[in-house]
Amino acid sequence: MNKDTKFIDYIDRVSKCKRCKLCGLGQHRCPGLGNLNAKVMFIGEAPGKVENPELRGLPFVGNRSSDLLLECVYTNWPNGYDDVYITNTVKCNPPDNRKPEDSEILACKQFLREEINLVNPKVIVCLGRTAANWFGITEPLNRAVYIDYKWEGCLVKVLYHPAYVLRFGFQATLQYLAFFRLMKKRIDEYVG
Ligand code: URA
Repeated sequence: MNKDTKFIDYIDRVSKCKRCKLCGLGQHRCPGLGNLNAKVMFIGEAPGKVENPELRGLPFVGNRSSDLLLECVYTNWPNGYDDVYITNTVKCNPPDNRKPEDSEILACKQFLREEINLVNPKVIVCLGRTAANWFGITEPLNRAVYIDYKWEGCLVKVLYHPAYVLRFGFQATLQYLAFFRLMKKRIDEYVG
């Protein structure tokens, strides 16, 4: 199977998954999206509630935290989803946008593993604690954001989740954009 066929198969299995209780709740599902040969993969927490139902099913599309992430991504990778791959730790939207539970993260683990194997990125960017924990990163985020982690040959960087940043207003979003630009420099150095 080539990458495209494997990806279609993965999307099909995400859409039919029944591995945890989220599947029975009718919450929308959202596989990853982007360049299957991307050097950089972004991993969020779980799909958010999306106001426009037509936009459901796309990671980081259709709400304020998604807008902030995409602003940061497109500023640094002008081709956006054509340059990078974006996904979530958990592929279903938890009710009321609550945090995914450990059992849900575990049930979804195989899907994220498959995406990492398929895309084979050189750099993984964890957006927030849920994604960072998936890689065994447990330092407080205010320290983790300055550390270069290594995981199975990948550079792993950690950022605050954009939804968290939005709570602190406009100055914080500007600082996030600036921090993102610095991280991009580090990624360029690493990827060459
Ligand atoms: N949308 C996503 O797809 N993931 C998040 O973590 C938040 C919003």
